[in-house]
Amino acid sequence: MTNREGGASEGALYVVAVPIGNLEDITLRAMRLLKTADRIACEDTRRTGKLLELLGLPKRPLMAVHDHNEAARAPAVIEAIASGEKVILVSDAGTPGVSDPGHRVISAVIEAGHRVIPIPGPSAAITALCAAGLPTDTFRFVGFTSSKPSARRREMESLAGARETLIFYVGPHHLAAFLKDAAASFGEDRPGVIARELTKQFETFTRDRLGALAEDPGVLRGEVVVIIGGAPEEGPADEATLEAAVRSLLAEGYPTSKAAKVAAKRTGVSRDEAYRMALKIREAQAESE
Ligand code: SAM
Repeated sequence: MTNREGGASEGALYVVAVPIGNLEDITLRAMRLLKTADRIACEDTRRTGKLLELLGLPKRPLMAVHDHNEAARAPAVIEAIASGEKVILVSDAGTPGVSDPGHRVISAVIEAGHRVIPIPGPSAAITALCAAGLPTDTFRFVGFTSSKPSARRREMESLAGARETLIFYVGPHHLAAFLKDAAASFGEDRPGVIARELTKQFETFTRDRLGALAEDPGVLRGEVVVIIGGAPEEGPADEATLEAAVRSLLAEGYPTSKAAKVAAKRTGVSRDEAYRMALKIREAQAESE
């Protein structure tokens, strides 16, 4: 095993993953680097200061690099590295840059010609995925969706046909609405997993159909990852299934062309075919009125 960064005398940026709940998940390598860092760039200096204390590590110089100042702080990070400093980048929890600040400062450091060295460790997405029980051969990390209902529905509908297992980060206050929209967009029978409080004392995995999860989302507190199975590999749905999908979307108030578009994604039939079905239903409804 080589210790690539051990002998490096020039400065570098170390992107260090930290625990998502359980302190024991810190790696030996992360411990050594946090102990010897010249400077730690962190999302929240109080939280990182507390983390160092809980890990029994000495205080290090901290600089705040968060969503609102990341681009502006990049020159100071580059200057420190250029002067030979070992600068560590951490976020509040998990892996920097994964639904967290990091990528702007990292790309600026690369652009300036310095080394960026990843120190892998926990991330809620992979932690949830690896125990969810859904296919892991191909997956898509979506992260947070919009908190605005209409934008969230649009994002979900654009993913309805994706074959990959989907990974979402969801704030506890949005979980109930998220699951309702997910059941409507991906279909009630899609498998879903709510992974709550990962690595912590009250870690739970709830595995069920999206319809059932939407009906009973369970505890609405704590940190949550939602994993949703990809669209089934079956061929296009039969006419009755298409009709049922279009009818339910029209009943929900979707305009004809939008209902056809969403039903096509959900059932695997062509958009033209779904549109013809939507028109047929609309005409029949108009005649019976
Ligand atoms: N950088 C982090 C990572 O690598 O996972 C993610 C940070 S993001 C701002 C925070 C979100 O990650 C939470 O809203 C939740 O969806 C998820 N998360 C973080 N820790 C978690 C945990 N212990 N259990 C479940 N979800 C968690």
